[in-house]
Amino acid sequence: MLRLFVALALPASLRAEIAGLAGGIPGARWVPPENYHLTLRFIGEIEPWRAQEVDDALAAIRARPFTLRLAGVGTFEKAGRIQSLWVGAERNDALTHLQTKVETALQRVGLAPERKRFSPHVTLARTDRAAPEKLMAFVQAYNLFRATPVEVEHFTLFSSRLGKEASVYTPEVDYDLVARVAA
Ligand code: ATP
Ligand code: MG
Repeated sequence: MLRLFVALALPASLRAEIAGLAGGIPGARWVPPENYHLTLRFIGEIEPWRAQEVDDALAAIRARPFTLRLAGVGTFEKAGRIQSLWVGAERNDALTHLQTKVETALQRVGLAPERKRFSPHVTLARTDRAAPEKLMAFVQAYNLFRATPVEVEHFTLFSSRLGKEASVYTPEVDYDLVARVAA
């Protein structure tokens, strides 16, 4: 079985900008900067033959390159606990469009629909063991954060190996976004 997800990899310059926000919250488990990514679709554990179908489906997607700007920070909560701290993405029709195409392609090869609404973000830290006041202060302090925009020219199928400290993500396939679809 392979554990897979589809995401935007982020250039080193942008990862470094985001890493500048990290730190200063006791109990937070910060994501290592090399692991920063923006998930388009979590796939989970699948059989290798199915992974081949996923690859074929993703390779058939035609979508345009676009400019991505990360901005603002926020939290995800579950059962009254703040689970994670993230950097958001500015509203972006091209990104939404790409995510929809990925979702549709994956459903077509038989994956169950994702029920959660797409909420583009880059996870900075797991925070279930951090004090809520510290997290709220962090959100307030960095709410106006805006990263330098980057050009997104491909999306990526990653495999994930869960680890005790941090997971190890491996880019398996890059899929190019193309400015002009040939007639
Ligand atoms: P760990 O689960 O050990 O914290 P991780 O979350 O870094 O590790 P994965 O669980 O393989 O690694 O997740 C890969 C990516 O997919 C991450 O961006 C994660 O937030 C996202 N993801 C994982 N599970 C889900 C899910 N059930 N629904 C939506 N996205 C998910
Ligand atoms: Mg996980």
